[in-house]
Amino acid sequence: MADTKIGVLSCSGEECLGGTISRLATRKMMEKLRVGKTVTLCLPLYLAGGEGERSFAKAYPVITVDGCSKCCAKRATEKYSGKVSDTLVVSDILGEHAALSKVVSSKDLKNEHYQMVDKVADEICKKFDKILYEKGENK
Ligand code: SF4
Repeated sequence: MADTKIGVLSCSGEECLGGTISRLATRKMMEKLRVGKTVTLCLPLYLAGGEGERSFAKAYPVITVDGCSKCCAKRATEKYSGKVSDTLVVSDILGEHAALSKVVSSKDLKNEHYQMVDKVADEICKKFDKILYEKGENK
C-alpha cells in the first residue's frame, strides 16, 4: 500500500439531502471501499481551529465533498490550509433538485437515497485513485 495519506473532508450540511449524502458517501468510502487508506477530517473541528486537521490539510492531499454549490468544505479548507487536490459536489452528480431536497434524516432515507450514496462514494474513489496514480502509487 502507498505511503501517501489522503484526507477526505465532507461538508456537514444538515439542511438538505446533499449534505447527508456527502457524509454517508465519505463514511462508506472510508469504511468499506478504501479501508485504512484515507483520513477523514472533521469540518466542525477544522472550523473551530483544530490544529491537527489544519496541519494535515497543509501537508497531504485533501478531497473535499460538498453537498451543494456553496462548497463549504472546499472554501473552509482553502481558506485555512491552501488549495485542495480535488473536489466533488453532490449536486453536480445528482442534480440540484435531488441534492437540495429536504429529506435529511437518516431514518427517512429510502433505497433510492442509498443508491445515491453508492454513486457519490464511487466518484470519491475515482478521485482518490487518480491522486494515487499521479503520485505513482496506484493501488
Ligand atoms: S456545501 Fe451546501 S449542503 Fe454542504 S454545508 Fe454548505 S450549504 Fe450545506
